[in-house]
Parts: sequence; C-alpha cells; structure tokens
Amino acid sequence: MEGSSKKRRRLWYLALASSLWACAGPPPVFHESMRGDIRAFDNASAKQTARWLDELQPVIEEWIPGSRAGQRFEVWRMTEAAWPGPGVPSDHDASYGVHTEGAAQIRLRDQPTIPGMEGVSAAPEWALRTKAILAHELVHGLLGDSWDALPRVVEEGLCDFLAARAVPELAGAERTTQALPLLLLATTEPVHVFATASADHCVGTATATLLRPTPLPDPETFLSVGASGVPPPWHRDADRVGRALGFALVSRIMERGGIEDLHRIAAISREPTSRAALTDALLDAAALDNLEANTLISLARGLLDRDDSNRWLGLVFAELVEGAETELRQQLAGQATTSSRLTTKRIEIRVGAKTSFGRFRLQ
Ligand SMILES: [Zn+2]
Repeated sequence: MEGSSKKRRRLWYLALASSLWACAGPPPVFHESMRGDIRAFDNASAKQTARWLDELQPVIEEWIPGSRAGQRFEVWRMTEAAWPGPGVPSDHDASYGVHTEGAAQIRLRDQPTIPGMEGVSAAPEWALRTKAILAHELVHGLLGDSWDALPRVVEEGLCDFLAARAVPELAGAERTTQALPLLLLATTEPVHVFATASADHCVGTATATLLRPTPLPDPETFLSVGASGVPPPWHRDADRVGRALGFALVSRIMERGGIEDLHRIAAISREPTSRAALTDALLDAAALDNLEANTLISLARGLLDRDDSNRWLGLVFAELVEGAETELRQQLAGQATTSSRLTTKRIEIRVGAKTSFGRFRLQ
C-alpha cells in the first residue's frame, strides 16, 4: 500500500512540475547575439547557440535567392525535458526543431540520441547535430514569399540539403539516413538488411526488415501538398519517407541547375491547380522522366554512392552488425585455431526477396 501511495505522490509532483513549466514562459538564460536573441537553460548553451546563429545566418542568406536577409530570430534552446515548451500547438510538435513564422522564433531540441538510431548518435560528429537543426530551421525562416509554392516535402528537402552543406561534418549521415526511406517508397515488398561478420571461414549474420509505413502516399501525392508550416495530411512515419523524396530531388536539382533553378520553379505558380505543372518542372530540373520504382531506387543509390556511405551505414545498423559479430564469436569459440582472425564486416540491403540493392563493406 505504501509503495502505491508513494508512486501516486511522485506522479502528482511530476504533474505540478509540468504545469509550472507551462506557465513559466521562455527558458531563463537570455543572451543577445549579433543576429538574434537567444534563450537557453544555461550560459554555455546560450553562448554556443549565439555563435552558431551568427556563423550560419549570413552564409545561408547568401545561398538563398529571395531570402529574408537580416531577419532577426529568437532562438530557444530547449532541453529534452522542457520540449517543446509553451505556445507550440501539439500538432506542430516536431521531433527536432520548430520554426514559427509570425514570431520568427526557432526552437531547438537538444538530442543526445535519436531513439532507434543510437549507433549514428555515437559518431563524434553528432555533437554538431543541434547546430544542423538550427541550420535547417533557419532555412525555413529565411525562405522569402517567392518560395511559398514549393511542395512541403521539397521545402523540407531543401532545408535538410542546405543544413548538410552548412554543417558538412554530418552530410554523410544526412544522405545515408535519407536513402533508406526512399526504398520503402519504391517497393511494396519488404526491404531486408543483412549484416555479416566473417573470419576463418566462419560467418555470423543478423537481419532486420525496414518497416513500410501504412498508409503511404504515392510520390505524386507527396509532391502535390504545399505549405510546409502546416501539419501534413499523412502520418509522421510517412512524412519521413516523403521528405526523403524531397531531399533526393533537391540534391539532383542542386547538382544540375542549382538553387536558382529551384527558385524559378517555385515561382511558376502559387495556384494549387498548377501543382501538376510544378511536379513536371521539378522532374525536368532533376532530369527524371518519372517517379516509378526504378527511378526511386536509382535516386536512393545516388545518395549512397559516396566514399563515406559505408561508415555511416555501419553506424545506422550498428546494433545489427554487433549481432552478427556476437554470432561469429560464438562460432569461433568452438574452433581450435590460432590464426589472426581478422574480421570482415558487411551490410547488404535487399529489396524484395531477390533484388540486391547494394553490398557495403564496412571499414
Ligand atoms: Zn523542417
């Protein structure tokens, strides 16, 4: 009985703490930077956020034609516990950051790890993750009116693309984690990931299946919805897939005509009835004929066709690789051998039962 009353009391304290916070307003530490006002829970993060803002904003302004140059932002650096804080509607509760248009306010959520992706967060570069989120939200905040017609997933893709350019240490992580959801859009068959660890003619394996969100809109539907500030008419898991499509399209357009091309396309029309023309123009600029399965698969391949992809894939699937290594160790333990036992680790991704999407040897 005593245990249960203790438990109740603790819940009551928690409820009180959260209602106090709801009335508390912005984080307590204030710091003014050249470019904006920072609020945080401690001095060190306030100053760090100010440095990041002053460094990133002029660069991003320069990259974006028709940007809201000189816009002052109020940036709230939030702890995990305080996220998202007062004034942000629950349907706007993004996982990493929020930009609110009218108040030119950006909220950043400090994220030591991403649930389910702890391997990637173990990379030393991950310390810059919050900076990359600031860069992403700054792009939203700096896109001027002439960008309004861009489909939601393309705007998100542009924010991710420019954030990866602004924080290049994490560009490889961005490309790798965007390539995988695209595969789920390409096929209704399951996507399997195999990790193997081999040494001395023994092989340990571990497998995982990537889950396809249901329902999942088709590519044309993703490209037919505008206005990034409003919640999408599809589930958050599906949104991740749509944003991967946006990122892949933006990456291709940037390599070809550059951001001026994308800006020109955004200006084609702001009428919702012209969505089809907008989609055609996006495909043209990306030099794509259609958005069929093969096209999506080659888009995903393009994202992984880089020197650093193997390393990031190894981190994305760190737990799986560890499982394969454990199985290998068990097999080797039963062998009386004295050789060096140099372990080779690989990741293979298969789309459906037969098609190999790619084999990646990890360093
Ligand atoms: Zn965004």
